[in-house]
Amino acid sequence: MEKGIITILSGFSGAGKGTIVKKLVEKYDNYALSISATTRKPRAGEENGREYFFKTVEEFEQMIENNELIEYASYVNNYYGTPRDYVESQLLQGKDVILEIELQGAMKVKEQNPEVVLIFVTPPSADELKNRLIGRGTEDMDTINARLKRAVYESEFMDRYDYLLINDDLETCVEKLHSIIQSEHYSVKRNIERINSIREDIKIFSEGE
Ligand code: ADP
Ligand code: 5GP
Repeated sequence: MEKGIITILSGFSGAGKGTIVKKLVEKYDNYALSISATTRKPRAGEENGREYFFKTVEEFEQMIENNELIEYASYVNNYYGTPRDYVESQLLQGKDVILEIELQGAMKVKEQNPEVVLIFVTPPSADELKNRLIGRGTEDMDTINARLKRAVYESEFMDRYDYLLINDDLETCVEKLHSIIQSEHYSVKRNIERINSIREDIKIFSEGE
């Protein structure tokens, strides 16, 4: 079976990453969404093991110690990290795995594994970013401002990504994401074994020359 591809979605807080990946996995069944561990407190409506594995700082540091995380980073005063086992088992089952993680983590995974696809998600404008963050209603104004400030820093790294995904109309954005990932399956660099096998097969036509 063909191994799955890891796709990383990063982007400003409030860009719509969570909304996009939720729709993607609802619509198509070849995707697996990695669930991160975090020390941030659950938001209203979030469940342990569904949005995140919510951990204490001590528990999180133990996971780091045990090498249970592919990567981890600190973001606006909390730890966030990607558990290794789930990602590896899903890839082996041929699923395309989506990591919705911030840029330091994205760069670390890309360093370890240059085959990953890096996608940066942005709303159509800065005003729309602020409106979405406020409209989500999950953070107080101080946290929103800290996240907007962080977005300025993050914008410096946008050109390190492979693709830019503008989240204007949600449905269109989900379709674009699906096409990007599916096209990657046909890239030459991911088909070297197949190319070698076709080369071997085709040699039959040079026999007897
Ligand atoms: P992120 O995960 O990037 O922080 P969310 O998925 O939580 O962002 O989205 C932030 C807010 O913007 C949410 O209230 C969500 O409903 C809204 N939103 C997401 N995508 C769109 C879109 N395409 N158009 C309008 N609002 C959107
Ligand atoms: P939020 O608190 O809004 O859920 O997430 C804050 C930020 O942490 C987002 O940019 C999100 O992509 C990022 N994030 C979530 N999980 C992980 C993770 O496992 N690793 C890293 N590096 N970042 C993460």
